[in-house]
Amino acid sequence: MTADSARLTPWPVELRAPDIDPYRNGNTDVPFFWSFDSGQPGPHVMVTAVVHGNELCGARVIDRLLREQLRPGRGRLTFGFCNVAAYVAFDPVYPTLSRFVDEDFNRIWDQPTLNGGRSSIELARARAIRPMLDTVDVLLDLHSMQNATEPLILAGACQKGLDLARRVGYPATTVIDAGHAAGARMRDYSFFQDPSDPRSALLVECGQHWAQSSETVALETTLRFLLASETVDRAAIEQWLGPEPESQRVIQITQPVTVRTDGFAFVEPYVGMECIRRAGTVIAHDGDQTIVTPYDDCILIMPSRRLSVGQTAVRLGRFVDD
Ligand SMILES: [Zn+2]
Repeated sequence: MTADSARLTPWPVELRAPDIDPYRNGNTDVPFFWSFDSGQPGPHVMVTAVVHGNELCGARVIDRLLREQLRPGRGRLTFGFCNVAAYVAFDPVYPTLSRFVDEDFNRIWDQPTLNGGRSSIELARARAIRPMLDTVDVLLDLHSMQNATEPLILAGACQKGLDLARRVGYPATTVIDAGHAAGARMRDYSFFQDPSDPRSALLVECGQHWAQSSETVALETTLRFLLASETVDRAAIEQWLGPEPESQRVIQITQPVTVRTDGFAFVEPYVGMECIRRAGTVIAHDGDQTIVTPYDDCILIMPSRRLSVGQTAVRLGRFVDD
């Protein structure tokens, strides 16, 4: 992507990226990670932001909760800023350019990659965070999206992720998904995707990257996540909580569409959550191949503008009954 094309985003940058340099030292072995132990029994709960450097809502929420000195009533609570090298490069004039420095931080969390000999800014950071992550029982990873579509919880492929999403109860739509062909996300790390292990993780897509509303969603999700994990009492956060959420619905991802050629193009400017009525409807071309919907009422999840070979172009899913 060139700097000029990066500037051509239809979305205004409403959010300001907070200065996180005061958090650099942390109070753990990991820079920019802050951990608070209640002294009472309970899980180690972690909330993370800026896995992608240009996603501002999570940074704003963690900055706020650290400044408010929110502390756990039970267990241990950790806040962390992940891909700081990318985040500090954020420029509101070119807001798409700082997603990562060398590679996507959220595609490197499989054991061969973490244990292997390859090096990058993101791998060094992931390897520094990993010992901390190994002590976490419940993770919430705060993200945002390219398009202004409704917020989504990505619960992973295990029942325990769906159960956790239901306990959190917000936002309204939960997506059951197995991730990307290009590599494992932090929420898919090791035990988080082991159905026999109780430790669990959620990723939440809070809305458009730079929309004010994404910060509201990120705060509400974080607060309800801390309630669901019994880390804080309601009285400790009541003043920040929004109205009781509406009932949830669940979308099962059936398959990702992965870009195979440089000639990939959608047939419409999809933004996500479109429901395509008829099976066999053409949604994209990829070189000589035609991409069609595999079943009736197929929902398009997070169609991407980054259509490079090996990356996820869109995920296909359908609503499932409870
Ligand atoms: Zn993200």
